[in-house]
Amino acid sequence: MAEENSIEHVKCLIIGSGPAGYTAAIYAARANLKPVLYTGMQMGGQLTTTTEVENFPGYPEGVTGPVMMEDMRKQAERFGTDIRFGVADEVDFTGSLHKVRIDGEKWIEADAVIIATGATAKYLGIPAEEKFKGVGVSACATCDGFFYRGKDVAVVGGGDTACEEATYLAGICNKVYLIVRKPYLRASKAMQEKVNKTPNIEVLFEHNTKDLFGTDMGLEGARLIYKMGTPEEKEHDIKIDGFFLAIGHTPNTEVFKKYIHTDGQGYILTEGRSSRTNVPGVFAAGDVMDPDYRQGITSAGAGCRAAIDAERYLTERC
Ligand code: FAD
Repeated sequence: MAEENSIEHVKCLIIGSGPAGYTAAIYAARANLKPVLYTGMQMGGQLTTTTEVENFPGYPEGVTGPVMMEDMRKQAERFGTDIRFGVADEVDFTGSLHKVRIDGEKWIEADAVIIATGATAKYLGIPAEEKFKGVGVSACATCDGFFYRGKDVAVVGGGDTACEEATYLAGICNKVYLIVRKPYLRASKAMQEKVNKTPNIEVLFEHNTKDLFGTDMGLEGARLIYKMGTPEEKEHDIKIDGFFLAIGHTPNTEVFKKYIHTDGQGYILTEGRSSRTNVPGVFAAGDVMDPDYRQGITSAGAGCRAAIDAERYLTERC
C-alpha cells in the first residue's frame, strides 16, 4: 500500500459513471458530501454503447445513450462532483476509513463508498456479434425489443432469463426462436410452461449459433448447427432481424469480493430495500447489485438510494 501521508481523504467516493454512479453523485453533491467519482474504463457506462433510449422518463422524443449520459455527467458536475478518469483496482475495507486504489498507484480513503460498477453482458464470442451490435444484436430484450415489433427474432439461452426474454419478445414480435444448446431448458418449471404455452415461440433444442449474416443495413439471419459434434450434425439458416443474447451477465465485483458479500453469480448483496452492504459505510447501486431489472431507470433509482443511505450513515457517525 502507498505511504499513509500520500493518501487522499474524501468524504464520499463513487466508483462508476453509469446511471447509478451519476445519480448517486447528483444526490451526494447536493447533500454537500463533496463526492469524488471515478469513471472506470467506460465513461457513461453501458448506455454509451447503444443508440436510441426510448424508455427513460423525461425524454419524450427519445435520446441516444451517449447524449443521455453526457447530460447526467453535466448535471453531476453542476453541483460540484469531482469526476475523474480512473479504475479502482484494489480495496481495503478493514478499517472505518475505506481505502481504494486507483490505477495501481493512487490510494484514496473515504468515509463512505458507493459501488456502481455495473454488470457486463456475456456474448457468444463470434465476430459477427460485434459487427451487428446495435443493428440486430442486443443483450437486452426489455431495452431493444420494441425496435423489432412485428419481426422475427431469436433469443439465445436456456435459463430463466432467456425464457423470460423470449416470452417478453413474443408479445411484441411476429416469431421468436429460442436457441438452446442442451436438449432441455434449465429454466424453472413455471417459466418452461410459459414458453411452451406461447404459440409464437419455437424452441430449437441442441442448436448452436455458428454465425450471423446480413448487410450494412442490419441483420438478416443466423446460421445454426444442430447436434454439433455428433454424426447427426447439420447446418441450417433462420431468417431473423434481431438476435438477443440471454446467456448471463458478469457483475463487475471482482475487486470488492474479498470484503463485500456477493451472491452465487457475483452480484453484491444489500440489506433489505437499502443499498447497505455487509461493510458499514460501503453501499452498492445499479446493475452491480441487481440481477433482476438491470435498466437505466432502476439503476438511477438505486444510485439515489445509495447517496441518501450514505448521507444518513455519515450524519449518524458525526
Ligand atoms: P453501468 O452503466 O454498467 O456503468 C458501470 C460503470 O462502472 C461504468 O462507467 C464503468 O466504467 C464503471 N466501472 C466498472 N468497473 C470499474 C472499476 N473497477 N473502477 C471504476 N469504475 C468502474 N437500459 C434502459 O433503461 N433503456 C435502454 O434502452 C437500454 N438499452 C441498453 C442497450 C444495451 C446495448 C445495453 C448493454 C444495456 C442497455 N440498457 C438499457 C441497460 C442499462 O444500460 C443498464 O441497466 C445501466 O447502464 C446500468 O447502470 P449502472 O450505473 O448500474 O452500470
